[in-house]
Amino acid sequence: MSSGVLHNFYCSKEWIRFREMIIQDRSKEGFVCEECKGLIFSVSDIHIHHITELTEQNYQNKLISLNPDNVMMVHKVCHDKIHGRFCSGARKKERGIYIVCGPPLAGKHTYVEQNISTGDMVIDMDRLFEAISFKEKYNKPDNLKYNVFGIKNLLIDNVKTRYGDFKSAWIIGGYPNKVEREQLANKLGAEIVLLEVPKEECLKRLENTFDYRHGHFKEWSQYIEEWFFHFSK
Ligand SMILES: [Zn+2]
Ligand SMILES: [Zn+2]
Repeated sequence: MSSGVLHNFYCSKEWIRFREMIIQDRSKEGFVCEECKGLIFSVSDIHIHHITELTEQNYQNKLISLNPDNVMMVHKVCHDKIHGRFCSGARKKERGIYIVCGPPLAGKHTYVEQNISTGDMVIDMDRLFEAISFKEKYNKPDNLKYNVFGIKNLLIDNVKTRYGDFKSAWIIGGYPNKVEREQLANKLGAEIVLLEVPKEECLKRLENTFDYRHGHFKEWSQYIEEWFFHFSK
């Protein structure tokens, strides 16, 4: 599993700029995968791989994280192969409980999507609202919140007692308050993944979303402000 700090690194301006530079530089003779030498046909299929693997300990060392000599431009599938994600038994993830938290627009869903395996359970208020309101994502009728909380608490209890057959569990939430999130983590034996995306970046992302939140900019920028107001580290 990639850690929160690494996720934040991959969201940073430095990395995004560096990544663009690498792609621009290396695509001059066509988009060629440096692993299999085949062509890369779509931009979303371009992955930048670190030869010396990025870790929580070394990511701040630019000779490793932002060094053109330490990266390869490869296909997504080739990237997976390099990391042995398809080798049987390799990189087998242990069952874990994770609290993925941070401000609105921090990329909590994306983070879970990137780390989840089949059979894992996700507890996410947004999705629970969707399930019982039949509304589009992020349109959360306030009167349903008690029922949504009810389901969420039931599922959290299930995680606590390890009821059911789920593999890992991912609990998505704001959890700005340090004491509260640590209490929950202790109660569940969970690991906290805090995505510390700066407020300006969250607001910028909000401007660039085209889902329900886009038409409700004021309401959602207020959620962002509130999160940062209550945030303690
Ligand atoms: Zn390839
Ligand atoms: Zn890689």
